[in-house]
Amino acid sequence: MMSDTLPQTRRDKIVAWLAQSGTLSIEQLAQYFGVSTMTIHRDLDRLAANGLARKVRGGVIAVDDGVGDAVSRTRCALCGKRVPRRTAWIITPEGADALHACCAHCGLLLLRHAADNRVALATDFLYGRMVNAYQAVYVMDSEVGLCCVPGVLCFATSHDAERYRAGFGGRRLTYDEALPAVGDAHRHH
Ligand SMILES: [Zn+2]
Ligand SMILES: [Zn+2]
Repeated sequence: MMSDTLPQTRRDKIVAWLAQSGTLSIEQLAQYFGVSTMTIHRDLDRLAANGLARKVRGGVIAVDDGVGDAVSRTRCALCGKRVPRRTAWIITPEGADALHACCAHCGLLLLRHAADNRVALATDFLYGRMVNAYQAVYVMDSEVGLCCVPGVLCFATSHDAERYRAGFGGRRLTYDEALPAVGDAHRHH
């Protein structure tokens, strides 16, 4: 029960869980947050209006943005896993084919071993938009484990990263901080 949760935090959590599970029921959410199903309905209306979720009878499902299908058939250049839409990376070396990474963990490791300054796009975890990986903000070791260990999630702004971190914990890192952090953790794993 988290009846004192702020509406914004509650909606952020719903979006994060949705990314993990793909579908949630209104009943489930109302019970977890200790609020009425009407309140959850209003949250979902708001998320749906912002394109962050799709309402279905009795619940909500993750948004299918079309781009996702193309990405999900590709495999990570580092670990070979299927690339989840929610955490996909695209790295484009000069004059070569694009590399895909399953999540920020593998994306950062690929860049760590890259000699040149290649174009790298990462998926923002909250809104699913592609952002410049070098300017993104990262949260490492939060409660949400989506792909590789240690988990690293990517955010467009430090404000978003901080909001997420307040709900789910973890360490907030810049690109320059995240790069060595993921490499060291990877080695010891
Ligand atoms: Zn990978
Ligand atoms: Zn991964």
